[in-house]
This record gives sequence, C-alpha cells and structure tokens, in this order.
Amino acid sequence: MELKEIYQKDLSIGAGLSYPRISFEVFPPKDGNSSKLFEELRVLKKYNPALVSLTYGANGGNRQFSYELLQMILDLELNVMPHFTCVGATKEIIELYIMQIENLGIENILALRGDLSDDISINDFKYASDLVDFIHQKSTLAIGIAGYPECHIECDNLNKDIENLKRKVDMGASAIFTQLFFDNDKFYSYCEKVRKAGIELPIIPGIMPIRSLKQIEKMISMTHVEIPKTLRERLEKYPNEVKKVGVDFAIDQCQQLIDTEVCGLHFFTLNHSDQVSEILDGLNIR
Ligand code: FAD
Repeated sequence: MELKEIYQKDLSIGAGLSYPRISFEVFPPKDGNSSKLFEELRVLKKYNPALVSLTYGANGGNRQFSYELLQMILDLELNVMPHFTCVGATKEIIELYIMQIENLGIENILALRGDLSDDISINDFKYASDLVDFIHQKSTLAIGIAGYPECHIECDNLNKDIENLKRKVDMGASAIFTQLFFDNDKFYSYCEKVRKAGIELPIIPGIMPIRSLKQIEKMISMTHVEIPKTLRERLEKYPNEVKKVGVDFAIDQCQQLIDTEVCGLHFFTLNHSDQVSEILDGLNIR
C-alpha cells in the first residue's frame, strides 16, 4: 500500500490497520546476521504495522545486504519502505536501485541525503530534494522525506529548514517522517509552521523508546534534539530502570499525540521488539 493511502483516515481504504497507523524502523544488523532481526519483526507483526522501514548506510556500503533484507521482510508479508541516501551516489547507482526495489513490488521509499563526512564526496546529488526529484521522474514510487521538529543540525533556523523541506515536497514527496523528539509541544509547533508554509502532507512523528541514557545522548549529540529536564532527572534517578522509564515516557508521549489526532506513529525500534510491544500494549493498539 502506498504512503498517501496508508495515512488517509478512511478505514475502508486502510483495511485492517489501526489508526493512527503504526510503523517500525529497523536497521541492517551490523554483524550481517539477520535471524535475530526477523525474530523481533515476527513479534512486531502482530501489531499489524502499516510499514516497516529499513535504514540505509550513507555511501551505500550495505546496498546488497539491504536488498536481501528487503526481500526477507517482504517474505514476512510486511509492507517495507527502504530508506535511501544520495550523498556519494551517482544517477546510475540510484536508477539501478530503484529499478531493483520496484521489481520486488515495493511501493514506497524514504529519500534522504545522508550525513556528510570527510570520506564521502558529493556526486550528482547535493540535497535530498535532488533525490526526490530524480526518483519522482524515474519511478512510480511514493516518496517519504525527513523532517526535523527541532531543526536540522546544519540549518541555523527552523523556518529556513522548513523552506528546504518545502523543496522536497515540491519535487513530489508524499509524507514526512520526523526525527525523534521528546517534547510534543515542539512537534505541534513544527506542524503548525509546516502547514503555514503550505505543506499539507501527512507528518508522522518519530518515537524513540530510550534504552540507555548513554546511548540516547550519543544519538542526539549530532542533532538539536533535547531531552526534557524532567525526563533526564527520572532517567538519572532510576539508573537500573531506564528501559521502564523510557517505556512509561513513550506511552504518555504517544497517548498525547494520539489525543491530538496524529495520523501515524513511527517507532525507531533499534531492532528490539520488547519496549515497542510494551508501549503498544500500554496504548491498547492492536
Ligand atoms: P536534506 O533535506 O537535503 O537537508 C539537509 C540540510 O540541508 C538541512 O539542513 C536543510 O535545511 C539543508 N538544505 C536542504 N536543501 C537546501 C538547499 N537547496 N539550499 C540550502 N540548504 C538546503 N541517514 C542515513 O544515513 N540512513 C538512513 O537510513 C537515515 N534514515 C533517517 C530517517 C529519518 C526519519 C530521519 C529524520 C533521518 C534519517 N537519516 C538517515 C539521517 C539523515 O540522512 C540526516 O539527517 C542528513 O543529515 C539529512 O538528510 P535529509 O534527507 O534531511 O537532507
């Protein structure tokens, strides 16, 4: 099922899917062993996700492995959305990749620039908007894009970042998946600004259940994402119960988002089903 259809509220179209739509992000296991990931996905499948998205290494290092994993996720009868990063990629590589995933019957892709680093040189694509444009011209894939409620790290103000988001929308994107955040007010204010900029696409909040304070701090160190003071205090006060604090916080965060009628919840699972299952059970989502 294609992104626009998925995020329509009309349940007769999204037959069998709960609303808001649930989706899970997973990544290719670093040791190349996919069996544990598939055990976790089998557990998560019972929540009837609208999508499972599979991350992609910048510079395309794991393209072949990604391709095999996509096939395996499809074999689990899950609707998979590969991520794809364009820094360092050429038009030829991207054209081949989109042809391959279309041949698998995949309908959606998350188009990203990828993070810059010294060992990556920019080839045909400077920004994700270039990639969205290219995919839109060369395929019938529906295209998801990234959004940043607390502003992308390289941009000095959120309004400018949203102007750049609009470039991706104008090139043919269908839905916006956000970076993780912990402060719903920042998400609401972002959505308001995005709407004011004339963007009507579904905005799907990204939810990250905290597993360890050290890990989350590392993850957000290269972003503008902030951990609210009260959450940090709770995490520091109960160092042996961080996973539980993370679950309880995420349940409250998601419930508030549901109450304000978000169209979806996109969980960064870190390839673990335990916390996400507890959150969805806590929210009574099946
Ligand atoms: P862009 O939209 O190109 O934006 C990058 C920066 O350039 C922003 O600061 C923007 O404001 C600015 N900009 C854009 N267009 C212009 C313009 N025309 N002129 C001037 N400035 C401009 N990374 C991975 O490597 N693999 C993944 O699988 C992956 N998955 C992700 C999933 C989600 C939901 C999110 C939110 C991020 C993900 N990322 C992933 C991280 C992403 O690659 C980085 O955040 C990257 O730095 C920016 O990617 P982008 O697609 O947002 O880039």
